[in-house]
This record gives sequence, C-alpha cells and structure tokens, in this order.
Amino acid sequence: MKNYSHTAIRRLFSGKISHDVLVFEVTYHCTKNCRGCYIPKEKRKEKTVIDEKFLLSTIKQAKKLGIRNYGFFGGEPISEHAIPVSLMAASENPNLTFIYCTNGEYVAANDVSFFKNYPNIAFFLSIDGFEGTNDNIRGKGSYSSIIEASKKLKDMRRAQSAFVTIRKENIDEVLSEDFLNHLLERGFNYIQWAKYENNANNGEEVPNEELHTKLKGFRDKTMKMPVFQNSDIMGEFFCLDPENSQNKIYLSINGDMRIEREDMSEIIGNLNEKTMKDILDDNFEYS
Ligand code: SF4
Repeated sequence: MKNYSHTAIRRLFSGKISHDVLVFEVTYHCTKNCRGCYIPKEKRKEKTVIDEKFLLSTIKQAKKLGIRNYGFFGGEPISEHAIPVSLMAASENPNLTFIYCTNGEYVAANDVSFFKNYPNIAFFLSIDGFEGTNDNIRGKGSYSSIIEASKKLKDMRRAQSAFVTIRKENIDEVLSEDFLNHLLERGFNYIQWAKYENNANNGEEVPNEELHTKLKGFRDKTMKMPVFQNSDIMGEFFCLDPENSQNKIYLSINGDMRIEREDMSEIIGNLNEKTMKDILDDNFEYS
C-alpha cells in the first residue's frame, strides 16, 4: 500500500470517500485588496481566465482518480468574465460538486438567479469577523456584501458556508459563541475554518499550537450547536489531528500543481507536461 504524505492524495489512492477538493484558480483578477492576500497585487489586475479545454480535461483526469469535489477559487471567481467557464464545467459534470470561494461582491450586486439551474454548485463566503474586524481586514463594505450575498443564496436555497480565515487579529473574536450565533442568525449553518498564512511572514499568523488548542476548546463548547464545522488546517473538525490536515490540491491557471495554497512557487508538476497521476507518482513516497 502506498504511503502518501499528503492526506488528500493518500485518501485518493485508498479509494475512500472524503471531502478532498481539487481547487482551480480560475482567474487571479480581483478588485479588492484584502490585507495579506497571497495573490500578488499586480496579478490581481489580470483578467485572464482558465482555459476551457484545460479545465474540462483536468476534471476528466481527476474524476478517474476519484476526486468528486472541485473548488473555483481566485482571485475572485464570481465576476462577469470568470463565471461562464465555471458554469460550463458544472453543467458538463452534473454528478460532481463545485464550490465557489467568493468575496460576495458580484452576488450581492447582480441578478444571480441563474445559479438556480446549477444544483451541483455550492458557495464559500469569506467573512473574517463582525463588521468592524471584517472590514478592517477585507476592506470597507465587504461585510455588507457577504451578508447580502448570503441572503440571496439562502432565498435560492443554495448550499453556502462561511469561510473564516483565522489570524492573530480575529482569533478570539471568531472563535467565540457570540460570533457563531451571529453567523447562525444570518442563515449560515456550515463553517469552514482556514488558517491565515502568508509567506511575507508579517506576524499575523497564529502559531499552530495556539490554533490547535483554541480550536479544540471551541469545538468542545459548540459540539451540540446546529452547525456543521470543518477545518482543513488542523484536521477534520471533530478529530483535529494536525498530522492529517491537508485536503486540497491547487491548480494554477498555467497548469502548475501545488499542495500549498499560499506558496505559489512550491510546484509539484505542470499538467501541460505530465498527467496528474504521473505528477502524484513522481512526488510522493511509497512504503
Ligand atoms: S477577495 Fe480574495 S482574491 Fe480578492 S483581495 Fe481579498 S483575499 Fe485576495
């Protein structure tokens, strides 16, 4: 039996059902300027979108490896120019699940009733605290966009989750029952916890040990609340095993494959040169 060090890949080859996700960076374009965004500012001005044929052929390969869940991340994947390619992938693959990770701006400001026709699409809405803290990190007005977007998606009965990134500035606020109740009152019943990581090493990262302890304490307090919580940073929420924390594989627009989101230079292979299976075989140890 192969012993892959990356949890997602180990699960893939073991054939077990899991929530592992192949994440496409469908565009790097984004009009916002959140503090600590790992996409370089210059790159966020480029309107390039992932190639349609590349997207479909990659999904075909990944499907054969057993991946059922796909992420559309960015930049901002929900925008006038980026939406068509992702909708095309979702309609071509009705038996797979697609998840947008969005800042909510487009959804809040536009008619998005077309999403009703895509039952296999779900949404992660980025929110990093109560309004003051959130807007301090993500820019003025971000909180209102998320709340408005969430209301619209709820009215359309679309699956949505709050995507909360934990950093020193917000850890005690977001890991509080007050904040959890705040999210529940606004219709979120699923929360995805992520860890703020930044290669610039700007001191905003919470040390792993502290994060693990605080998440555990929070998990114990909120165990009986009507909310589904998930963490890919410290292992699945109800186990919190940092040794088994990775569950995503990332793909850059140019075909570079990574297992770290924030470090775009940590590339394990390029899909224009090799198959996904070959890249995984080349990079992970067997025992
Ligand atoms: S919304 Fe996302 S992509 Fe845009 S600046 Fe903020 S973190 Fe970066």
